[in-house]
Amino acid sequence: MSENCSCSFHDYYSDNIYTWCTNCGNYGIHAAVKRALVAECCEPKDTLLCFDIGCNGNGSDKIGGYRYHGLHGRVIPVAVGAAIANRRVKVLAFGGDGGTLGEGINHLIHAVRGNYNMTFILHNNLNYGLTQGQASPTTKLEMKMNSSPDGVSSTPLHPARMILSLNPTFVARTFSGDINHMTEVIRRGVRHQGFSFIEIYQNCPTYNKATPHQWYQDRIYDVSTLPDYNARDLNRAREVAEDLENKIAVGVLYENPDEPEFLKRVANRQNATTELVDEVKPGSIESILNRFNQ
Ligand code: SF4
Repeated sequence: MSENCSCSFHDYYSDNIYTWCTNCGNYGIHAAVKRALVAECCEPKDTLLCFDIGCNGNGSDKIGGYRYHGLHGRVIPVAVGAAIANRRVKVLAFGGDGGTLGEGINHLIHAVRGNYNMTFILHNNLNYGLTQGQASPTTKLEMKMNSSPDGVSSTPLHPARMILSLNPTFVARTFSGDINHMTEVIRRGVRHQGFSFIEIYQNCPTYNKATPHQWYQDRIYDVSTLPDYNARDLNRAREVAEDLENKIAVGVLYENPDEPEFLKRVANRQNATTELVDEVKPGSIESILNRFNQ
């Protein structure tokens, strides 16, 4: 990213018409992502936005810049590959609670362990919205959904509890009803060197009737308002992250800027003066294939 760029909101503009439901939280999230990228001077030519399948992914062609729209639950490995290949490009990936914590949960766990240098934004609307309101891994117990009309019987996953158990380097939460808060949190995540995990509580007025906008509005508070909150204290982050019913902590819960990102941990990259993408050379795999053709 260049220091003195002329990045503007318009650079991320797309002519395509949004197809989300009225009052969907995705509108606010898109606005916050654009604001954060511009504020951090992430020019579209130096930025890659990777989208999973889901309602969030339907925004992949409603924003400018380089974009990738992947398979369900598989956006993280693609984003990790891009982040490793070329650190001159800022990589952000987006996924819903269904794809990320259902189909792709293994990828998320290993991305946290690897501390790859990218930002992942979890759109947590507590259901599979695109396929019309099935229960996801974060749907609340006993909530009646289209796939479980008698109520959900599986214990919901607690994303922050899971991530904080993996010794992450950046964990934040925010709310789709507050664009300014989302913008600031995403800016912090984009600046972080390593894997930044950002969970957004996203309104889904169509299928998630249990936790609408006002439900979150009445419960969330930013951890920076707590006296002596220290985002370097992992145990304190685990403590405040726990409550998802009464007082819900948002903001940067935990950050460890001292842990090196993935490539700085890899022994044979220590003296590298180029990015991996610079080292790619054309080659023939014919001799390898021939071994299997005999
Ligand atoms: Fe948004 Fe929910 Fe509609 Fe999907 S189903 S577009 S998440 S309101």
